[in-house]
Amino acid sequence: MSETPYPYEAPASQALFDRASVVTPGGVNSPVRAFGAVGGTPRFMVSGNGPYLTDADGREYVDLVCSWGPMILGHAHPEVIAAVQEAVTRGTSFGTPGEGEVALAEEIVARIEPVEQVRLVSSGTEATMSAIRLARGFTGRSKVLKFAGCYHGHVDALLAAAGSGVATFALPDTPGVTGAQAGDTIVLPYNDLEAVQEAFHRHPGEIACVITEASPGNMGVVPPDPGFNQGLRDACHKNGALYISDEVMTGFRTSRAGWYGVDGVKPDLMTFGKVMGGGFPAAAFGGRADVMAYLAPAGPVYQAGTLSGNPVATAAGLAQLRLLDEAAYDTVNATSAQLRSLVTEALSKEGVAHRVQNASNMFTVFFTDRQVRNYEDAKRQETHRFTAFFHSMLSNGVYLPPSAFESWFVSTAHDERAVQKIADALPAAARAAAEATA
Ligand code: PLP
Repeated sequence: MSETPYPYEAPASQALFDRASVVTPGGVNSPVRAFGAVGGTPRFMVSGNGPYLTDADGREYVDLVCSWGPMILGHAHPEVIAAVQEAVTRGTSFGTPGEGEVALAEEIVARIEPVEQVRLVSSGTEATMSAIRLARGFTGRSKVLKFAGCYHGHVDALLAAAGSGVATFALPDTPGVTGAQAGDTIVLPYNDLEAVQEAFHRHPGEIACVITEASPGNMGVVPPDPGFNQGLRDACHKNGALYISDEVMTGFRTSRAGWYGVDGVKPDLMTFGKVMGGGFPAAAFGGRADVMAYLAPAGPVYQAGTLSGNPVATAAGLAQLRLLDEAAYDTVNATSAQLRSLVTEALSKEGVAHRVQNASNMFTVFFTDRQVRNYEDAKRQETHRFTAFFHSMLSNGVYLPPSAFESWFVSTAHDERAVQKIADALPAAARAAAEATA
C-alpha cells in the first residue's frame, strides 16, 4: 500500500492498480481513470447495478460518471442485458452485413433529421476521424477548424488544445503528433464567431470543415451562446465548408435527437458514440446523403472496420435507444435539475464560489464565480476545491468524474435512494471545498 493523504483506504483497488501499473502504462487504459488530477487510488470496479457501482473492496458508490455518458439507463439494465444475451448466443462477429446494423442505422436516421445516411464504427474517435477525412475528400480542401477545449477523441489532427483528459493533464500538445498533422488545424476560442469569420477570411477556399462539440462537455459543460451554432453553420455555408457537429457525448443524451433536438441547427455531418452503443463499442457518423455518397464503397473516400456494426454492440445500442422515450428523458432531466439545486444549496451554504452549468441533463460544477464561456474561463476555476470536494464525496459513497473539467452524468436509474445518498454526502464535501487550500 502506498501512503495517501486521503481519509480512507481502498486496499484491493490499490493492489490491482499496483499490478496494472506493471503491465499497462500508468496502470489504466484511458488516462483520466488514473485519478491523476485528484490523486489517490483509482477505484477498480467489479460490478454495476442501476445507479450504483461496486469496487474491488466491496464498497458501493452512486455513480455520476455513467461510463462517461453511455449508461443513461443505469448499469445492467435488464432489457439491454437480455438483448445482449440473445445476440451473443448467435455468435459475436461475422465480418458480413447483418440485420442489427440496419435496424440501428434506421433508428438513428429516424431520430435525427439531418442524418440521411449513417456509417457505423467502433469508437467516437473513429467517427470524428472519418468525418473529417470525408469532409476533406468532399470539399478537396485540407484545413480543419476546431475550438480550444473541445475534445473529439484522440485523432492526431484534433489533439490541439483539446479538452477532456488533455485538459485534465494540461498538455499543451502531445508528442507524437507531427507538425504536418496539426498544421492544417486551426484552433479558435469557443463561442467566438468573430474569430471564425476572420479565419475564413484569412484562409479563403482552404477550410474543409468546422468541427465543434454540439454543446461542449469536455472542458466541463459550456453550452454554446444563443446563435453560436447557427452562426457556425452560416459561416461554413457562405465559405463552401462543411459544418460537423460532434454529438458523441450529447447524442441521444441531451434529448431523443441529442443536441440537434435542442437547438435545431442542421449540420452537414454529425458524429455519435457513447449512448448509442448501450455500453458496448459502437459509434457512427452520418449526415447529408450527397456527402455520405463519397464514402467507400459508394464513393472514393476510404473507411472501414473489422468490428464495425458488431452484432452484439448493435443489439445493445438498439435495445437502449428503444427504451429512451420522452418519459426517460423527462426522468433524467428532472434528476439532473434536482442534483444541480442540491449541489448549489450545499456550496452556497458554505460560501464556496461556484457556477453550475448545464446542457439539458449534462452538468458541471465549476469552482469559480464567473460564467464559463470558453476553455480559458474553465481553466480559471479553483481546482484544489474540486479535489477536496471529490474526495469527500468519494469517501461518502459518491463517484464523481475525477477531474474538474468533465460533465457529470445521471441515468433513469438514479432514484430517490441514490439522490438521497448524494444529498447526504454534499454538506461535508462543501465544507471540505470551503476549507481547501491551494
Ligand atoms: N467526441 C466527443 C465529444 C467525446 O466526448 C469523445 C469522448 O469522450 C469522443 C469524441 C471520442 O470518443 P471515444 O472515446 O469513443 O473514442
